[in-house]
Amino acid sequence: MKNLEIKKCKWPKCQKEVYDEKMLFCGEHEKIGKSWLKKGVKSVVGVVGAGILYQIKKKN
Ligand SMILES: [Zn+2]
Repeated sequence: MKNLEIKKCKWPKCQKEVYDEKMLFCGEHEKIGKSWLKKGVKSVVGVVGAGILYQIKKKN
């Protein structure tokens, strides 16, 4: 069974359909969205890293 659900662009207030179901953003927002995701990943990594450092400090 193929999932025929239409995926919409994840960009806030954007209602465009994405070309590929693996994509998160429409063509218009793909470039912006990807750089935005990278920034998000970086901040998540920073938060996780800080948490790990805190755990190590607590043990010592
Ligand atoms: Zn869009």
